[in-house]
Amino acid sequence: MRSGFPDFRLGSVLATSFTATLTERRGEAVERIPTPQRLVDWLAVSGLAVESCTAAQLDLARELREAIHAAATATATREALPAGAVQVINDRSVQGRAAAVLTPDGERRWRVADVEDALSVIAADAISIISGERDGKMALCASPTCMAAFFDTSQSRTRRWCDMNTCGNRQKKARFQANQRKNSGGS
Ligand SMILES: [Zn+2]
Repeated sequence: MRSGFPDFRLGSVLATSFTATLTERRGEAVERIPTPQRLVDWLAVSGLAVESCTAAQLDLARELREAIHAAATATATREALPAGAVQVINDRSVQGRAAAVLTPDGERRWRVADVEDALSVIAADAISIISGERDGKMALCASPTCMAAFFDTSQSRTRRWCDMNTCGNRQKKARFQANQRKNSGGS
């Protein structure tokens, strides 16, 4: 918790880190970008720092987030992509002027001027994982209160949880407790 807001769940894939700004979608949902400033904070830690964000830009961001979630979920379950979600992702992708720049150390950085630019980078990242262009597989988290779509890049493609530290851990703990009950003889 920082300044009273829920922490971010940051992963290694930009698009699904972004969809993870709303967690426990099938349980008691936690909104991790509740204010425009929190979106600014999230963008900063994600390499897409912008100066400011308006309420309307936050709405755009959340619309994109839900579109990515819907399209990624459809991909994971091998269903047809929802047309509305595809439209939103494409709109955000084409309406930004982000540029990739190379640092003297040979790293890639994004140059973005505003939230729209940052969203275009996220939309393009979503396109690259949903289209199957990148090495990995879309999958759904095995936690019934989560079911977040995540991008599995493990060798065996058998990752079960969106995040080992939260969903994975909770599941392990639940199993452990169930075993303890069994071993203590029950009645
Ligand atoms: Zn999960």
